[in-house]
Amino acid sequence: MVLKVAVIGGGVIGITSAYVIAENLEDVQVTVFSESWSPDTTGDGSAGYWCPYLLGDVPEEVLRFWCQKSFEVFQAICKTKEAVEWGVGLLSVFSLATEPLETPAYHDLFLEHRPLCAKELSMFPSRCRYGAFITTFFVECTKFLPVLMKRIQSKGGKLIEKKIESLHEFSGEYDVVINCSGLGARTLVPDPEVIPVRGSCPWLKHGVMLDNDFYILPNSEETILGGTHQEDDWRLEPDPEDSKNIWEGCTEIMPCLKEAKILRHWVGLRPYRPTPRVERETLKTEKGNLEVIHNYGHGGSGVTLSFGCAYHVLRLLQETMKISSHL
Ligand SMILES: Cc1cc2nc3c(=O)[nH]c(=O)nc-3n(C[C@H](O)[C@H](O)[C@H](O)COP(=O)(O)OP(=O)(O)OC[C@H]3O[C@@H](n4cnc5c(N)ncnc54)[C@H](O)[C@@H]3O)c2cc1C
Repeated sequence: MVLKVAVIGGGVIGITSAYVIAENLEDVQVTVFSESWSPDTTGDGSAGYWCPYLLGDVPEEVLRFWCQKSFEVFQAICKTKEAVEWGVGLLSVFSLATEPLETPAYHDLFLEHRPLCAKELSMFPSRCRYGAFITTFFVECTKFLPVLMKRIQSKGGKLIEKKIESLHEFSGEYDVVINCSGLGARTLVPDPEVIPVRGSCPWLKHGVMLDNDFYILPNSEETILGGTHQEDDWRLEPDPEDSKNIWEGCTEIMPCLKEAKILRHWVGLRPYRPTPRVERETLKTEKGNLEVIHNYGHGGSGVTLSFGCAYHVLRLLQETMKISSHL
C-alpha cells in the first residue's frame, strides 16, 4: 500500500523534508503544496550561512542532532563536483564581538572554531576586542532548492501551487501531513507563538560578523550584507534607514566595501518561534483522525537546521507509519 504524504511549504524546510522522505522511503507518494517557490521563499534571500542563530530554547541534545545532521549533509555535498550546481561552498568568517563570547556547545561541529588572535583582531575597529574564526559552509537556496525540487519530481513526487486554508482539507485524502508553512503556521495551525523577525540585506567579498548586529557574508557570486532583527515587524519593503545603518556598520568593519556595487536590497521575515516546532500531532477531523507532523518556526537558522529537522521528520513519519501499521 502506498502512503500519501502532503507537505505544506515550498521553502527550505518543506523542500528538504519532502526530499528526505522521497529519497529514504519506499511506497510513499509525496506531494508538496505551496503558495510560493524558489526564488521567492525566505531562504532565497538569506545569507545561507551555516551557523545556528536566533534560536529559542531548544534542548541541547536536540539542537546538536539538527545541527550535526545538516552539517554532515552539506559537507558531503561540498565534497562532490556537483557542489557548484547545488550552491554549497566553504566559508570562513571572522565572528567579532565587543563583549567576551561564550564558546557554543556545538563549536566542535564546525570545521574550525577558535578564538581570534590579537593580530587578526587588529584588522578591525578597536571596539571589536573579542571573536572567533569559524570555517563552515554557505548554502545558496536559489541554486539548492531547484535542484532538490527536481530530485523530488524524479522520485515521483509532485509540486502543486496552492494556498492551504486549513489542515483539515487533507483529511480522507492524505495519510500524513507535514506542516512546513513557516510564518504561515501562525494562521494555518493557528500558532500565535510564530512571529516574524524582519531582516534586510543590501548586497555586495572573507565573511565578517559583529555581535548580532552586522554581517558581511560572501556566497559564490555575491556578498550579502545585513542585517536587522525586528520582532513582530511585518513590512516587506526595504527601509532606507535600515539600509543606511547596515551600509555604515558594514563599511566601518570593512572599509574596502565602499568600492563595491550594490546589486539590490531585500527584506525577509524569519519565521521565529521561541522553540522551532518539530513534533507529531493527531488532529480530530470530521472524516476521522489526521496525522500531522509539524516542522516550522526556525527563525534565523532555517537553512542551517534544514536537513537535521528533515531527518527528525523522517523519524517521526516512520513512527507514525509503525503505529498505523504501514511498516
Ligand atoms: C535576512 C535574513 C537572513 C537570513 N540568513 C540566514 C543564514 O545565514 N543562515 C540560516 O540558516 N538561515 C538564515 N535565515 C533564516 C532562513 O532564511 C529561514 O529560517 C528559512 O528560510 C525558513 O524556511 P521555511 O521553509 O520555514 O519558511 P519559508 O521560506 O518562508 O517557506 C514557507 C513556505 O510555506 C508556504 N506557505 C505558508 N503558508 C502556506 C499555506 N497556508 N498554504 C500554502 N503554502 C503556504 C509559503 O508560500 C512558503 O513557500 C535568514 C533569514 C532572513 C530573513
